[in-house]
Amino acid sequence: MSKLARNLIVLGLALGVWGMSFFFIGDSKSDSDDPTREVCHANLGQIQRAKQKWASDNHKPGSALPTVDDLKPYFPNQRIPRCPGLGSYVINAVADPPHCSITTHTYP
Ligand SMILES: [Zn+2]
Repeated sequence: MSKLARNLIVLGLALGVWGMSFFFIGDSKSDSDDPTREVCHANLGQIQRAKQKWASDNHKPGSALPTVDDLKPYFPNQRIPRCPGLGSYVINAVADPPHCSITTHTYP
């Protein structure tokens, strides 16, 4: 095998590995390494705790559906946290955990 041919093979392998690493980075970014996902999860946890507090303060059953205005007093500056990934939240009934419109942002 000529030296040039061997160099071309090595170059091809290097490019292949380089391309693969991009593939893996891109893949993991859309799932477990999404930094917005953890923040969103924490937000949904805060919303769920606010719902439970609202239900106990107002003697509501688990099937009660609090509105955004009902929950506002339980957050600093009356601001309900928002999804950092621009998803929208569905508050749900007290007994049902809230969820985010971004499907990878799961809770609990
Ligand atoms: Zn989200």
